[in-house]
Amino acid sequence: MKVEMEKVSLLEKDSQYLWHAMHRYKENQPGMVADKGEGAWFIDVDGKKYMDGVSGLWCLNLGHGRQEIINAASEQMKELSYSPLTFGHGPAIELAAKISDLLGGSYRTFFANSGSEANECAFKIARQYHNQNGNPGKYKFISRYRAYHGTTLGALSATAQANRRMKYDPGVPGFLHTPPPYSYRSIFGTDDPEQSDLMTAEMLDQMITWEGAETVAGVIMEPFISGGGVIIPSISYIQKVTEICKKHDVLLIMDEVVSGFGRTGKMFGFMHADGVQPDIVTMAKGLTSGYLPLGATAVKSEIYEKFKEAGDHNHFRHVSTYGGHPASCAVALKNIEIIEREGIVERVNKLGETILGEMKGLIEHENVGEVRNIGFLYGIEMVENKTTKKPAADHLINPVLQACKEKGLIIGRNGDTVPGYNNVLIIAPPLSSTEDDLKFLVNTVIDAFFKQK
Ligand code: PMP
Repeated sequence: MKVEMEKVSLLEKDSQYLWHAMHRYKENQPGMVADKGEGAWFIDVDGKKYMDGVSGLWCLNLGHGRQEIINAASEQMKELSYSPLTFGHGPAIELAAKISDLLGGSYRTFFANSGSEANECAFKIARQYHNQNGNPGKYKFISRYRAYHGTTLGALSATAQANRRMKYDPGVPGFLHTPPPYSYRSIFGTDDPEQSDLMTAEMLDQMITWEGAETVAGVIMEPFISGGGVIIPSISYIQKVTEICKKHDVLLIMDEVVSGFGRTGKMFGFMHADGVQPDIVTMAKGLTSGYLPLGATAVKSEIYEKFKEAGDHNHFRHVSTYGGHPASCAVALKNIEIIEREGIVERVNKLGETILGEMKGLIEHENVGEVRNIGFLYGIEMVENKTTKKPAADHLINPVLQACKEKGLIIGRNGDTVPGYNNVLIIAPPLSSTEDDLKFLVNTVIDAFFKQK
């Protein structure tokens, strides 16, 4: 009785006080209040169990309840509860060294609390770097349409999803957008995805030329667009963009907020592309597997050295009270230790192809236009008609989502690109999901497509 009353009161307070992210204010929508987590699953206050097929917001990479991570946080808090990064502290120093090592180059890391902040930090570093190194006119950033880079005004200005921005525009000046490598709807009259992607890269090259390379500070990209519809380019596209940036003295900012720490079957997504070593790498989410907030901006040491040369009066004027919190850094170190010890990257490579690979068969369904995948990241593009490729609408998509939910599986849908183009289902389970969990996920998704009344 007591438990039941507590539950009712929680649901009432939820509907009265809590402003949910992405809430669409639907009347009579039953609230879902998470209560407990176990591995890749969570249990709501009604006791119903769900597998989390999108790892929360693509972050719960090692699943719930890892005692080692919990201990790392509490032990750190006992030792040193807080220290600003105007000083150093052990966990931040060790983590910065580890990140440099994992990135396969020599990097300096500035810590923040989230992916959005990590990107803001990257933009400010890039502008100041050019400003102090003989190129004060280089201030523009280019990102791709459909990309998501965060929620704060600078990161939102790099986010090129019209629906997410229109009520908050104008954004920060100097952010431009170019088409994504979206070969499924290629405008180049070719059926060859790689050729289409390379032509898209040529457009970026032209854009920088016509804008005036001396005005462009950086290109920000995810190696594989996640939230904007799981767009997986040819590897040669990533290499080509890297060359274009070098040619124009434009910094390449790789947003690894989703793709970092194993999601795509490499420690970082850019590592799929031989010869690519970004100037700046931003990360969050999988850095702590969502256990505590942390964002990081790793910058090639040679860029940092230029700041050092410019002297203290030209230091990077950026500070974050909680960025690089000792407990968050301790959690990140433990998280990375587990990823390495359990061979998570290799596991993602293997099981992303084998067990999850069965979802590629969904292409046989009349409303599936394309199944895109890398590692534990799947996008299922739904269409009304495979010939016209007209994006599927709610009446085709909602029953699939609903059927999954009824069976106890939560999957995602890219939400706010432009009206009518939220037609990609997103599947990104925790990287440590058991094989049985993954089989359940695959069977549930396939049944939701093929076994509906
Ligand atoms: N970049 C990418 C690619 C993301 O997906 C996100 C979050 N979904 C962000 C940046 C922003 O991260 P945060 O929500 O931690 O600010």
